[in-house]
Amino acid sequence: MLTSENTKENLKDPRFQIPDNQGRFGPYGGSFVPETLCYPLQELNEAYEAAKADPSFQAELNRLLKEFAGRPTELYHAERLSNKIGGAQIFLKREDLLHTGAHKINNALGQALLAKRMGKKRIIAETGAGQHGIATASVCARFGLECKIYMGAEDMRRQALNVFKMRLSGAEVHGVETGSKTLKEAINEAMRDWVTHVRTTHYILGSALGAHPYPLMVRDFHRIIGRETKKQFRDKTGQLPNELIACVGGGSNAIGFFFDFLDESGVQLTGVEAGGRSLKEGEHAARFEGGKLGILQGCKTWILQNSDGQINPTHSVSAGLDYAAIGPEHAYYRDKNRIDFGWASDEQALEAFKTLSAEEGILPALETSHGLAYAFERAAQLDKDQIICVNLSGRGDKDAMEAARIMGVEGLPKMSFG
Ligand SMILES: *Cc1c(COP(=O)(O)O)cnc(C)c1O
Repeated sequence: MLTSENTKENLKDPRFQIPDNQGRFGPYGGSFVPETLCYPLQELNEAYEAAKADPSFQAELNRLLKEFAGRPTELYHAERLSNKIGGAQIFLKREDLLHTGAHKINNALGQALLAKRMGKKRIIAETGAGQHGIATASVCARFGLECKIYMGAEDMRRQALNVFKMRLSGAEVHGVETGSKTLKEAINEAMRDWVTHVRTTHYILGSALGAHPYPLMVRDFHRIIGRETKKQFRDKTGQLPNELIACVGGGSNAIGFFFDFLDESGVQLTGVEAGGRSLKEGEHAARFEGGKLGILQGCKTWILQNSDGQINPTHSVSAGLDYAAIGPEHAYYRDKNRIDFGWASDEQALEAFKTLSAEEGILPALETSHGLAYAFERAAQLDKDQIICVNLSGRGDKDAMEAARIMGVEGLPKMSFG
């Protein structure tokens, strides 16, 4: 269904012709789900298109983004860091300052508001590190919605404090014991729940992934990041940056940051994947290094899989980047040579985590640290009058303990929840 708003956008701008009305980004995306989910996805798509065109929905969302989440976030010139690196000027888009600590709240708020509009009183979600679970639990508390979070048992062990926070906000956290006990299994379990309770329940998917309309909808809820960034650069510096850099797990913070710059040909766009311990099979999550075309959890995209089509195990020091598939829109714009992709290793990310903390007093999430590591290398190759902007997708408080453990700090407190 086309709304007046996106019809207008379609006529103006080829960016809005993708995805098509089947959710396809060229050969990627689409909707590969069991038949029982076809109707709920169609219902969701129609509800979303209607909400998108409804000024009262947008006004309510904007009010909540401001008053509950803390938007707009600052655009910050990291001068000491830029001087230290000695190349391009580095700017940071401070999504880490948002309520619950990362960009994820933009999407969680949008989808919860949509669920309310659809009359759904029960919310389910998956979470890896816990950031999406916390954002979802928090908005559910805010709206008085019942909330159940699926989380791999291994991730629950690694992120015990986040489990506690979700429970404090009233969410039921369900540990998933199958397979590698991480994000992929948590998504499977959430989809199973959705199939069973679809009349009462909305599934708040946490990244620009899955079946149509999720990649489109999640992107739209995060577009505010790039829209603000563009305006802030015009107001602050009178020019646009030379390059935008963001880390890419499923790809939600990156596509939200990049989207309003896609038609600015002078601005280079770069996504950074998790290079893990090495680029050997099973030791990383860099889908464009060693992945191939396949279908996972509802959508067609680049996936880390073996020659029999079995999904490979993945590894990253940051749980939020540790996933075998990349959002379909990224695959599309990579083919079009509009978004470039690189990777950073666990070690480089940890180094960047320490550098930003030491130079600017800002602790970045380990996910974000991948984008920073790549940006530091790029900045060193550029001149002082050039500008790089990194999307600081989240804060590093959740990772401080894990970083301390890796750095060999002694006497750390222990915490674990079942
Ligand atoms: C979840 C998360 C990511 C990765 O998810 P995307 O959908 O790729 O943005 C990156 N950074 C932070 C801080 C996160 O919490």
